[in-house]
Amino acid sequence: MHAIDVNRGQIESRFRKAWACGGPRIVTPLGHGRYRVAGERGATYSVTLQGWRFGACSCPAGTHGRVCYHFAAALLRRTADEGMVAR
Ligand SMILES: [Zn+2]
Repeated sequence: MHAIDVNRGQIESRFRKAWACGGPRIVTPLGHGRYRVAGERGATYSVTLQGWRFGACSCPAGTHGRVCYHFAAALLRRTADEGMVAR
């Protein structure tokens, strides 16, 4: 599984998509930087965040290292839970 790098994708459009799908509400924190994200058509994906820039997602785009909205949604959730001061 390739790592996702926020700086190598269109994170703004992914944030917009994540918000359109419910934002932090589609994300379940599992602890230790792991999140379960509800995708479309009943799918759920596993997202791992490493800090605020790197991570991984089990969806088809994410496994190729592309910034996906599941990853963006997990960032939104982490921001809501921890605030950006943890950067
Ligand atoms: Zn994904």
